[in-house]
Amino acid sequence: MCKNISFFIVKCYNLNMVIDVENIYSKSFDELVTFFEGIGEKKFKATQVFDWLYVKRVKTFDEMSNIKKNIIDELKKKFVIGDIKLDSVERDVEVNKYLFTLADGNHIESVLMRHDYGTSICISSQVGCNMGCHFCESGRLKKVRNLTTGEMIEQILKVEEDIKMRITHVVIMGIGEPFDNFDNFKRFVEIVNYQKGINIGSRHITVSTSGLIPKIREFASFPYQVNLAISLHAPNDEIRNKLMPINKVYPLEDLMKEIKNYIKTTNRRVTFEYILLDGINDSEECAQELCDLVKGINCYINLIPYNETNNLGYKRSKKDTISKFYDIIKKRKINVTIRREFGTNISAACGQLRSKKEDI
Ligand code: SAH
Ligand code: SF4
Repeated sequence: MCKNISFFIVKCYNLNMVIDVENIYSKSFDELVTFFEGIGEKKFKATQVFDWLYVKRVKTFDEMSNIKKNIIDELKKKFVIGDIKLDSVERDVEVNKYLFTLADGNHIESVLMRHDYGTSICISSQVGCNMGCHFCESGRLKKVRNLTTGEMIEQILKVEEDIKMRITHVVIMGIGEPFDNFDNFKRFVEIVNYQKGINIGSRHITVSTSGLIPKIREFASFPYQVNLAISLHAPNDEIRNKLMPINKVYPLEDLMKEIKNYIKTTNRRVTFEYILLDGINDSEECAQELCDLVKGINCYINLIPYNETNNLGYKRSKKDTISKFYDIIKKRKINVTIRREFGTNISAACGQLRSKKEDI
């Protein structure tokens, strides 16, 4: 019995250690300053640590050679440098797909895309997603938990390490609804944008949301010029309700009002994402209705050929239907593009690799 109790205490102690230690990549610069002030050290130490983490990219505290041993010990007590592991990479000419294992065994994915203007990474913001869009693998798998800021940051660092070059653009369009993990998303942007952090300009960062109105409002007063994309996918409530349950909470009329308000406040253009689904939202009437909906809004429409998944019944629209849809919008003088396809061969759409890995 005694033996069992002591085992239990040791286990709890270990558990405490695990719980108390935080991924240092979750800390913004200001938070690290506060940490150093809290242990009676100068805030300049935060600059040095950021330099080791994001410029020199060290993996252990012991490599931080200009920081005194007693401070290194304090850092070790409080933090770990990274806690996600690269599980596997699928490589294609223009795209790499990364699967990561988190400290608790969950899986997430990131996609790297090579463009003529640079490289972009699509990162995940949650394990699964509670929005339940019917066409989406991430929604099918439900939210297990939010990602920490560190887990989001590390997706960039690990991919940069793999490709041995710096990424120029970041999109938060992987697994999860970033506006349902707003605080961690905000801190993520702060670190990505920070000059002494990852140092990617905010205009090179894009966040995509299914339309959480209160968060769009909060985002409008965000101190960074991050691009906003809205997953629209339907020109009216009837179709959108069938595809995206969130529309029953925040219907199109309210959403469009909020977007207009966002544009007025920020003076920025928004992107509307519109997946074309065969026989569901790809008729000529839908195209006209979509134009009516966005008329007068400073926007462009990104038409997305659907990436079919094994588990959901939706089909991608035919090539000539996509062209017709595009032409109608173009004729109405609204900015429109058809998204270039990346990684259909390697399950690069939102959540597909994770669902394969976890066999769910
Ligand atoms: N939750 C956020 C961001 C992640 S989803 C959002 O919904 O905006 C990023 C984009 O991928 C969304 O526009 C989503 O609708 C789209 N998407 C999801 N599954 C897809 C698939 N199988 N093929 C193509 N696009 C998909
Ligand atoms: Fe979530 Fe976006 Fe997928 Fe909808 S499309 S289920 S909001 S990840």
